[in-house]
Amino acid sequence: MLLSGRSLALGESLTLAVTALASELKAKGEDIISFSAGEPDFDTPQIIKNAAIKAIEQGCSKYTVVSGMPQVLEAVQYKLKRDNKLSYETSEIITNVGAKHSLFECIECLINHGDEVIIPSPYWVSYPEMVKFAGGVPVFIEGKEENGFKITASELKQAITPKTKILILNSPSNPVGSVYSKEELQNIANVLKDTDIIVLSDEMYEKLVYDDVKFQAFATLSEDALQRSVTINGLSKCGAMPGWRFGYLASKNKDLIKAIKKMQGQSTSNICSIVQHAAIPALKGECDKDIEYMRQAFKNRRNVALKMLESVPKISVYKPQGAFYLFINISKIQKDSVEFCRLLLEKKKVAVVPGIGFGMDGYFRLSYATSDELIKQGIQRIKEFIMEF
Ligand code: PMP
Ligand code: GLU
Repeated sequence: MLLSGRSLALGESLTLAVTALASELKAKGEDIISFSAGEPDFDTPQIIKNAAIKAIEQGCSKYTVVSGMPQVLEAVQYKLKRDNKLSYETSEIITNVGAKHSLFECIECLINHGDEVIIPSPYWVSYPEMVKFAGGVPVFIEGKEENGFKITASELKQAITPKTKILILNSPSNPVGSVYSKEELQNIANVLKDTDIIVLSDEMYEKLVYDDVKFQAFATLSEDALQRSVTINGLSKCGAMPGWRFGYLASKNKDLIKAIKKMQGQSTSNICSIVQHAAIPALKGECDKDIEYMRQAFKNRRNVALKMLESVPKISVYKPQGAFYLFINISKIQKDSVEFCRLLLEKKKVAVVPGIGFGMDGYFRLSYATSDELIKQGIQRIKEFIMEF
């Protein structure tokens, strides 16, 4: 057989697939409104662009240290200290080709065949596929809608077995936008105390929180939490630079850091040298104003979208406190989310991502990282579609 069993078993990223389909149809001249993209519609802040241009002009075109240039590692260290009150040595930080790559490398370096990884559902599309690719077994805990789709400490306790190696936490979450409180995370951390479970804390949307909700980095909870966690973040969302591919991880676990450096040294080497230079001002807080502007815009759009959806019959929508997604319950209309989304695209030219991609049929994800005008038009079309269903 030509292909490995692992690659044959790998599922396609549904978020990227729907986004690509929407762009393809748009390019053919169809009047598509896409709520599929999991990326800010805002352009990258000028300060970041300038830093990249300067780096190109100064000829920063050589390979760098695998984990990143000293200046970029110091900038990540500064960011973690300033924003999260976390102290990491630069030797405990590795920059990666987006946080997707950070997660992939962690999972590849930690998982042996049959190891279990606990994933709260609904989850971001790539987690289970990464786990399976590494030979691990995803173990899902379904978050209850009435609890903001978050898992509780007692649900976690029940899911732990001697084979549990990793717990993946994502707050603020994709696709729901729920945010775990300090207390909820503390309860989770308490359950983990007498175990060797490693927490991959995916904090990609940390700066996109609304309504006085506070983001809490898992590693700040206690010394025990710090030692067992890998803090994962990047600039795709909170730096408006998804295509640049800048992510990073930080961990106190020296063995893990050493393994990931080896793996990266044998695969991608360092990440793009120009991107490393561009990331520095963002990490140092020099575009805080741009990020705040974006956050306010997302908050307003969330409110506009929620208001419009209130009048749509037979659906329910969880009010998110973070990220830029709405996870919409359509189970009273159509449980098969792929079929619902296919018909919505065909009949009303609106692209959204089926809930099944996030582990929950009977829902779809709407990304409101698009203009107010398109949000209004698109939701109007969704409303008409549901009324005619
Ligand atoms: N985690 C979550 C929850 C995400 O939504 C994304 C979006 N792509 C990522 C990680 C990865 O982001 P990136 O690779 O662009 O840094
Ligand atoms: N994270 C984004 C999303 O969920 C980008 C696409 C992806 O990497 O999956 O849509």
